Amino acid sequence: MHSEFIILGAGISGISTSYFLEKSGFSSIILDISNPLSGSGSTMKSAGIISHFFPFKEEIKAVSNSLKFYDEIINDSSENISYNNSGLLAFCNNSDKETLSQFLDAMKSSNADYSLFDSKELSDIYPMLSIPSDEIAVISKNSGYYDINHLFPIIIKQLKSKNINFFNNIEIKTIEHQNYFTFHTNHGIFTSDKVIITGGAWSNKIANMFNCTINFDTYSTQAAIFSIPQAYNNDLSSLPILYKMSNGVYGRPVSSSSFLFGDGSTKYSGDPDNFKFKNDKNFLEYMLQQANTFFPNQKIGPVQKNWSGLYTSSEDSRPLIGKLDDDIFFLGCFNGLGIMLAPGCSKLLVDFITKNIINDDFSPFNIQRFNNNNI
Ligand SMILES: Cc1cc2nc3c(=O)[nH]c(=O)nc-3n(C[C@H](O)[C@H](O)[C@H](O)COP(=O)(O)OP(=O)(O)OC[C@H]3O[C@@H](n4cnc5c(N)ncnc54)[C@H](O)[C@@H]3O)c2cc1C
Repeated sequence: MHSEFIILGAGISGISTSYFLEKSGFSSIILDISNPLSGSGSTMKSAGIISHFFPFKEEIKAVSNSLKFYDEIINDSSENISYNNSGLLAFCNNSDKETLSQFLDAMKSSNADYSLFDSKELSDIYPMLSIPSDEIAVISKNSGYYDINHLFPIIIKQLKSKNINFFNNIEIKTIEHQNYFTFHTNHGIFTSDKVIITGGAWSNKIANMFNCTINFDTYSTQAAIFSIPQAYNNDLSSLPILYKMSNGVYGRPVSSSSFLFGDGSTKYSGDPDNFKFKNDKNFLEYMLQQANTFFPNQKIGPVQKNWSGLYTSSEDSRPLIGKLDDDIFFLGCFNGLGIMLAPGCSKLLVDFITKNIINDDFSPFNIQRFNNNNI
C-alpha cells in the first residue's frame, strides 16, 4: 500500500496531522505499534484540559486552532459531545507575580479573555473554595475540558470515515529508503514519499530507526479522581478548572461529587517501553492534602481511580515541530499539554511541509532552533 505520507504514532499528534494532510489534499497512512485507545500512549490518559493560560502568544494561537479542530470533528460527526467551557482559575502567590505578568501580557496581545480577582471577590463567587488572602486569582475564560475517553474514539472514527488508512499493532521489521520509504511490517509492506514521527515519548526510538536523534526530556505525571461527597450548596461540576502556579497542581470537576487532581512531573530516564504504572501512596497523600487546600471544609475521598503516563519536553518547554532529515518530519514535546497544543501545531507542520510556510507562528516551535537534528 502506498501513500504520500506515513505517520508513525496514532495519538492526538498523529491523528490531527493526518486530518490536516487530508484537508490539504494529501494521502496518509497511520501506523501505531499498539492500539492508541488502550495502549500506553498518553492521549487517552490525559485530563482533557484546554486552556489559554500561557506566557506566549504562539501557544495561545495554537490552542485556539486546536479548539477549532475539535469543533470541526464534532460537527462533522453525529455524536453528542460538548466542550465544557468552564474557564480556568489560576492561583498566583507573590513569588509568581513576575511570571503572571508574562501570562497576562501574552493573553492581552492574543485577545484571550481573562479577569483578575482578589480572595474576597472570589470567595463571593465560589464560597466552597478557599483562597489564601495573599493570592491573586485569574480566570482564563475560554478554557475548559473535554471528556477525552469519549472524544478521542470519536476523532478516530471520523478519520476512518475519511478514508485515512489506519493500522494498529504494527511491528516494523525493516525500513528502506531509496526514492521512497518502504516499511516491511507484520501487516505487509507500506510505502510512502515522506514520514512524520508522532510517537510521543517513543519518538526518539522511532527516529533512531532512521538514524536520526531528537533531544527531549521525558517525565511521568499522575492524576487521580477523588470523591467529594459533601459538596457545598453549589454543584461541584459548575466549578472552573483549578490551577496552582506555584506547584503545578491542577484539578477539574468530573461529576457533581468527584474531582480530578493531577500534578506536574517526575523526570523519567528509562526506556518508555518499560514504564509501568505504580500505585503511588505518596502522590495520593499529597493530592489529598492539595485537595484540602482548595476545599477546606469538605470530606474528600475515597480515591475512585488513579493513573499515570509519560510526557515529553524540549529544552525551552515549547513544542518541537519541523524537519529532521530529508523527507522525515517530527511533531511533539508539548510539555504535558498536547491535547491543547498538538492539533494547532500539526496544522503548522502540515503548512510547513506542503506549502513551505515558515511564519511567526511556526518559528518559535521550529526544531531547527536547537540545531539538534541530523541536517
Ligand atoms: C496524566 C496525564 C494528564 C494529562 N492531561 C492533559 C490535559 O489535561 N491537557 C493537555 O493538553 N494535555 C494533557 N496531557 C498531555 C497529553 O496527554 C499529551 O501531551 C498528548 O497526549 C501527546 O500526544 P501524542 O500523540 O504526541 O503522543 P501519544 O498519545 O503518547 O501517542 C504516541 C503514539 O505512538 C505510538 N508508538 C510508540 N512507538 C511506536 C512505533 N515504534 N511505531 C508506531 N507507533 C508507535 C504509541 O503506541 C502511541 O499511540 C496529560 C498527560 C498525562 C499523562
